[in-house]
Amino acid sequence: MAFSAAPGAEDVDVVVVGMGPGGEYVAGELAAAGLSVVGVEARLVGGECPYYGCVPSKMMIRAGNALAEARRVPGLAGRAEVHPDFAPVAVRIRDEATDDWDDAAAVKRFTDKGGRLVRGTGRLTGPRQVTVTRRDGVESTFRARRAVVLNPGTNPSIPSVPGLAGTPFWTNREAVQARHAPASLIVHGGGAIAVELAQVFARFGTKVTVVARSALLSSDEPEAGKLLARVFEEEGIDVLGNTDVTAVSHDATGFTVGLASRPAPGTSPDDGVRHPFELQAEALLLATGRTSALGALGLASAGIPYDGRTPPPVDGHLQLADGLYLVGDAAGGGAFTHMSMYQGNIVTGHILGQDRGRTEGHAVPHVSFSDPEIGGVGLTEKAARAAGLSVRVGYTAMADSTRGWIHGPGNSGFIKVIQDADTGALVGATSAGPHGGEVLAMLTLAVHARLPVATLKTMIYAYPTFHRAVAAALQGLD
Ligand SMILES: Cc1cc2nc3c(=O)[nH]c(=O)nc-3n(C[C@H](O)[C@H](O)[C@H](O)COP(=O)(O)OP(=O)(O)OC[C@H]3O[C@@H](n4cnc5c(N)ncnc54)[C@H](O)[C@@H]3O)c2cc1C
Repeated sequence: MAFSAAPGAEDVDVVVVGMGPGGEYVAGELAAAGLSVVGVEARLVGGECPYYGCVPSKMMIRAGNALAEARRVPGLAGRAEVHPDFAPVAVRIRDEATDDWDDAAAVKRFTDKGGRLVRGTGRLTGPRQVTVTRRDGVESTFRARRAVVLNPGTNPSIPSVPGLAGTPFWTNREAVQARHAPASLIVHGGGAIAVELAQVFARFGTKVTVVARSALLSSDEPEAGKLLARVFEEEGIDVLGNTDVTAVSHDATGFTVGLASRPAPGTSPDDGVRHPFELQAEALLLATGRTSALGALGLASAGIPYDGRTPPPVDGHLQLADGLYLVGDAAGGGAFTHMSMYQGNIVTGHILGQDRGRTEGHAVPHVSFSDPEIGGVGLTEKAARAAGLSVRVGYTAMADSTRGWIHGPGNSGFIKVIQDADTGALVGATSAGPHGGEVLAMLTLAVHARLPVATLKTMIYAYPTFHRAVAAALQGLD
């Protein structure tokens, strides 16, 4: 394609556009290795995870779980009075996690390694050329001798609902900046972010209603969503599944949200009565998915077609084209910090001429940090069947395991394992329960290494651990 270098462009070794977890990792490692690296960041170095995502949400969850454990004292250890106060959570997030949403420490981490940060919005203006528009409108252009790495991440998706625009709704970015728990909250969404934040605020005394277009955690095993719906009911959280938000308004008393039940799965939209109704709440949280920021990066300037939705294909080293890499949520391999950093490590090695492997997607783990924690890796039963595998399924309830029984209150959960009967290997697993995300580690190793179930069955499981329930689930594969 025709491409002319911008006059006055500066030559460097590598340009990284977007300093999310993967971009920051690549930029820092390459700078430490002695390359001249420009990191371009429009907002905060570190990206969504430390300021608006994983870290503050897990601080909130830690606090909510402390309240839940205190409420479990009766029946286990006497009496405990619980008086929730959101203020310490807000202070910890502001002071310890985000430095009041200031990235000076992350910038120093990068520049101490020899990197150069350019604040502004970057876009490709050639195959290995990036033009950055700073806040004051001034533009600078960088030509990369070795590589351009794109890590633009995602933004919260805002559904198009009549009346919503202009109202003071929350996304995750406002929710983690809350200074108090609202009296009432409608959470729109049923994925990990929705369920985590719904449960946190409920544990701080907020009357929470979750409105989801399908079931909770619908991309996990169906047992996961059912388990969480039951736990939520016990905790006083209303869950409205198969429900659409049809209108939103806001006044001094708060939000009014119009709702309508969706047709039952398998029926035509004309079959069902829509049962329109309304709910009021002080706050409204939208957790209805994420929108890729890749569209603004000018991929066409590098000859890469992009339809604005499906991530363009990358090779095993995350290359869109020779020397042009894409990492993180926008790459489509799984929107998790560990994926962004895993990809960043492969890219760093490839640019440095080191073999750090090629991407493999068969054992991507994920955890919803609800209580119970729900972790999954590899294929669900449905996905394994859809892939045409000869599927065997094993399942055990956590409460039936020795440790689950000892644990008592708060022991909800299960282990589900999926085996490919033809190869004998474990191809997927779900671990739900106390420390479900930690128990997932051994299942992730098994799926990653394509371990035969026969090997897992002869392993010794320490007694009485939660992960011993894995052995019971494996027996179900017979
Ligand atoms: C509430 C919440 C909780 C989460 N919890 C977890 C969790 O527990 N575990 C987990 O693994 N993941 C979690 N995630 C997901 C996690 O935050 C992301 O997967 C992670 O941030 C990796 O994203 P990324 O590397 O694609 O980039 P991002 O973190 O999205 O960062 C991209 C950066 O690029 C910048 N940028 C974009 N376009 C440009 C441009 N043109 N020029 C310059 N800069 C640009 C942005 O400003 C941003 O800083 C959570 C997310 C949310 C919202």
